[in-house]
Amino acid sequence: VAKKSGLGQFEFYSDALGQRLSERHHLSQDLKQALEQDELFMVYQPIVLTSEQTVTGYEALIRWQRKGEFVSPELLISVAEEYGLIHEIGQWVFREALSEASQSLSPSQFMSINVSVNQFLHKDFVEIVKCEIERAGVDPERVELEITETAIVSDLDWTSKQLAQLKSLGLRISIDDFGVAYSSIGRLKSLMVDKIKIDRSFIAGIAGSHRDQGIIEAILLLASKLDLSIVAEGVETNEQAQLLARMNCNTMQGFLFSKPEKMDQLNLS
Ligand code: C2E
Ligand code: MG
Ligand code: MG
Ligand code: MG
Repeated sequence: VAKKSGLGQFEFYSDALGQRLSERHHLSQDLKQALEQDELFMVYQPIVLTSEQTVTGYEALIRWQRKGEFVSPELLISVAEEYGLIHEIGQWVFREALSEASQSLSPSQFMSINVSVNQFLHKDFVEIVKCEIERAGVDPERVELEITETAIVSDLDWTSKQLAQLKSLGLRISIDDFGVAYSSIGRLKSLMVDKIKIDRSFIAGIAGSHRDQGIIEAILLLASKLDLSIVAEGVETNEQAQLLARMNCNTMQGFLFSKPEKMDQLNLS
């Protein structure tokens, strides 16, 4: 009896797993088509210098409306990585965001572009970035790449090489979602990174938690010692913005200022 139910259980799990796999497979096929048929689009979220009340730059974020419903970018990117579509999608993101940058941004504003792990580690990545920047005619110093901690902890030698090449083109590098993955503080010292984006989970907690405030203060201190810029992500309330300003963190991004929107729908002064 035990054997039988054991077998039954196995079939149950195997079905559920099979279903999940075929859903992802299906998604990857739709994604491929979406890419070919121009169903993907980019939205942009302002990054604000609150002390001057100016928009210093924008973060580009991908969107996909599939059969009327939005697919989360995290799912989209993980499926793209798994099914080998990430390079094509990554290049498309660069082309879109840089063309928008050349058309819509003022010369003092930068465009920040997210880069996934496999995209960043690929041997042709630097060449593709270079090519897309030249095509758009944007000053490379106005282009930032957002890379997660996972990307920089995977292969230190290769990461250093990629970063050095990107830096020599003039680009700036920021560490996205800083503080959530297992950490790279030691690596920040040796890697050519310019900016840290404090993960929004810490910002969400600051109004009620001295611990979260303490973590942010520690990150700010680290950043100032290492000469890194800082952005606070996911600022949603005035209280959070005021607390951050009091800690001397004046560059912020979040729904308080603006949701990500198509560029022509952002109404900013
Ligand atoms: P991320 O790079 O950390 O982007 C910030 C995410 O936080 C965005 O979610 C943004 O819409 C959201 N957000 C901004 N302000 C607030 C706020 O005040 N409150 C809350 N609750 N959320 C806020 P989104 O657009 O869903 O993107 C999720 C993640 O997907 C991104 O996290 C990034 O890792 C990835 N992603 C998005 N677009 C791209 C892309 O073009 N390429 C790559 N490789 N990854 C992308
Ligand atoms: Mg980002
Ligand atoms: Mg982030
Ligand atoms: Mg994130």
